[in-house]
Amino acid sequence: MIILAIESSCDDTCVAILKDKEILANIVSSQIEFHNKYGGVMPELASRLHVEKITYVLNEALNKANLAIKDIDYIAFTVGPGLVGSLHVGMQTVKTLSLLLDKPLVPIHHLAGHIYANRFVKDFEYPLLALVVSGGNTELVYMEDELKFKIIGQTLDDAVGEAYDKVSRLLGTGYPGGPIIDKLAHEGQITYKLPLPKNDDSLDFSYSGLKSAVINLIHNLNQRKETYNVNDIAASFQDVATTILINKVKIALKKYPMIKTFVAAGGVSANLTLRDKLTKLLSDYPNISLILPKLALCGDNAAMIGMCAYYKIITNSYNNDLTISADAQYDLEEFSNK
Ligand code: AMP
Ligand code: MG
Repeated sequence: MIILAIESSCDDTCVAILKDKEILANIVSSQIEFHNKYGGVMPELASRLHVEKITYVLNEALNKANLAIKDIDYIAFTVGPGLVGSLHVGMQTVKTLSLLLDKPLVPIHHLAGHIYANRFVKDFEYPLLALVVSGGNTELVYMEDELKFKIIGQTLDDAVGEAYDKVSRLLGTGYPGGPIIDKLAHEGQITYKLPLPKNDDSLDFSYSGLKSAVINLIHNLNQRKETYNVNDIAASFQDVATTILINKVKIALKKYPMIKTFVAAGGVSANLTLRDKLTKLLSDYPNISLILPKLALCGDNAAMIGMCAYYKIITNSYNNDLTISADAQYDLEEFSNK
């Protein structure tokens, strides 16, 4: 079966084509250079750029896969959550294609897509625990079975990726902050003591306090006219930001002792320190298979949406509904904390 997948939830215009679970094309057109000067994603600009790029990216994917549009059997797309204007561009594109080609639509939850990116590495065994860490999300997700998602912990304020982006803006090191801070941190020393946010027994996270602590630290250093190394601040921040994730994973593994697979998902799962710490932690759990997504598939991409769609199609658990609408708050029933 040939699956066309479109992901447009934020600032990447992505089209992938899969033959079952094999990637034939995976094109990502990044808008970073346009948003860079604002230090973050400008939603209005993101939607306009998606409108400009989507047909070119679609054509490029078809060329790369050496297929014509009529060869497509299923059309998968990110229905939410995300920036509503950005989602709408992808949605209108797939609705038009679906009507024109008379092929079914397969709506996919963005975070389900990130989790299923790990399926390109290894198959899942259930129950599964996922640490979903991205620019908009910090969640622990428990999966009892295929496509059954339950949020067991989440951030109460900022997401971890958002904290990386804000700290980078503060340090004037650029956007997106995650990969930049990650690199600088490896060239610095853990010098400053920052508080571990929400370091309790719950599975919830909080990152806004950590961001404020970095603001205060820089403010105090400036007031005292002390010179400081940006790399040391990056290293100190990264140590705390990743330690809190590890601590929460430890608590979750204790609360859910039957876990057979652990996966990391989302843009922040590209973080080298986090990957090292997870590998070290999971080496103490020989019965759990650790899967980390390929670096190229950590950030937003449409291949992950196609992979999740593959499982929806073979289990016949999708709803081909042309009246469906994109929503920034979109919450699939299957992906909730109930
Ligand atoms: P996503 O929301 O899944 O597209 O992921 C984007 C987020 O991941 C942004 O907040 C980035 O700053 C963050 N990110 C990307 N690479 C890294 C990294 N190596 N370390 C930490 N955060 C990262
Ligand atoms: Mg994402």
